Amino acid sequence: MADADDWTHRSIGQIAAGVQHGEVSAEAVAAAFLRRYEAIEPQVHAFLHLQSARVVEQARAIDAKRVRNEALGPLAGVPIAVKDSLCTIDAPTSCGSRILARDGAVWQPPYDATVVEKLRSADAVLMGKTNLDEFAMGSSTESSASGPTLNPWDLGRVPGGSSGGSAVAVACRMSAGALGSDTGGSIRQPAAFTHTVGLKPTYGRVSRYGLVAYASSLDQVGSFGSDVRGAARILEVIGGHDPRDATSATAPMEKLEAACGRDVRSIRIGVPEEYFGEGLDAAVEQRVRRAIEALRGAGCTVHAVHLPHTRYAIATYYILATAEASSNLARFDGVRFGLRVHPQRGDLEAMYTSTRSTGFGAEVKRRIMLGTYVLSAGYYDAYYLKAQKVRTLLRRDFDEAFRQVDVIAAPASPIPPWKLGEKLDDPLSMYLADIYTLPASLAGLPAISVPCEPTQDGLPVGLQLIAPAFQEARLCAVASAWEAMNPARGLVAPHAHVAAG
Ligand code: GLN
Repeated sequence: MADADDWTHRSIGQIAAGVQHGEVSAEAVAAAFLRRYEAIEPQVHAFLHLQSARVVEQARAIDAKRVRNEALGPLAGVPIAVKDSLCTIDAPTSCGSRILARDGAVWQPPYDATVVEKLRSADAVLMGKTNLDEFAMGSSTESSASGPTLNPWDLGRVPGGSSGGSAVAVACRMSAGALGSDTGGSIRQPAAFTHTVGLKPTYGRVSRYGLVAYASSLDQVGSFGSDVRGAARILEVIGGHDPRDATSATAPMEKLEAACGRDVRSIRIGVPEEYFGEGLDAAVEQRVRRAIEALRGAGCTVHAVHLPHTRYAIATYYILATAEASSNLARFDGVRFGLRVHPQRGDLEAMYTSTRSTGFGAEVKRRIMLGTYVLSAGYYDAYYLKAQKVRTLLRRDFDEAFRQVDVIAAPASPIPPWKLGEKLDDPLSMYLADIYTLPASLAGLPAISVPCEPTQDGLPVGLQLIAPAFQEARLCAVASAWEAMNPARGLVAPHAHVAAG
């Protein structure tokens, strides 16, 4: 039997095959990942909750299934981490907030999110819940009530957000894959910041049932992997129609992993001028252009395209997302679940006020106030309604571009990971950094971030590819073609090395 420690560096496909064929036990794989967790987690704080006993228990159950000759699923024994905004029946769910904790105990959902159910039935091993910006609002994982996650490429820098914990868990190989959610970039940007692959599906592709809502018209669950195939396999497992989510699409799930490695000759790549202008870091631009050139060398054709309304994306997104958030977060009222702070004196309304003032952090409060403002009488037409119209224009930009090209290639983030604390007092500059991920979210389109070569300072850079709705397979084909040529493929973060024991 192979040295069990090796398995933390194997791909998701290799781990599943190893477990299915009895080359390694799920328990040995789980133990190897738990050892990495012990060694690395204290440096990076990627997890909010790890149930080590349950991890071993799940792995043993999979091994027992194999002994009984039962067929094992596509994620057999594969350790997967889950963003802590997804409901899990056997683990607390905090959303990175104080408001879901009462008397020291974090809220434990009475049900599993559909995506979590699907992971379990694919025989994955759930490692635990990962850190995030409070209620997924942020781009750095610093707004979490339990403190930031650190970037294993430079511990003084942010890992991106809001799914920073999931990205770091995968970057450090503390889990083989992870689930995140992406409302305006929360999978793609942390993937770009940690040299991992992050795949956000088409809106409606993956069920939102059991995902704690931030901005429901934008929220999508997606996957992280250390390679495109891994992210593709996870998405294949969690995707598909779910009658419990009214916005879930009925289109059948495509074969995504099989699309990896597919011939990309004659694929037309669009390079939007608006994504390569002012504000784009020179090193990021150079790495991304190099990846596009490599794809040209592989037989793709490259074309300039225009997405003229891009500059309105930030204003549009931060109106619509905050409006939806202000409504979605009304449920955290101290009555139904989570924190309740009894006021010194007063009535029910005073209880609401004291609970919400204590329970929510500064960024969440800012968003609730912004959202309430844009929805209020007198401002609704000027802000919310107008933003809805601009959203349509942004979607039409993509419709127009996809008449000429098959995929769009651009940076995932205009800048490399920034220093911890650098943007905390300047929310606007944090919002501006979302410029390249917001448009695909507003248009509901699938997009992936796949690693480029890091900058000279060793900071990760991500190539973002965007495809027409329900063309995730095309994304996987092009992303894996670049991945195969990337000289930095498989590079591991400097702070994710464990001394051999
Ligand atoms: N950074 C964006 C925001 O703060 C996107 C977050 C997300 O996708 N959840 O809203």
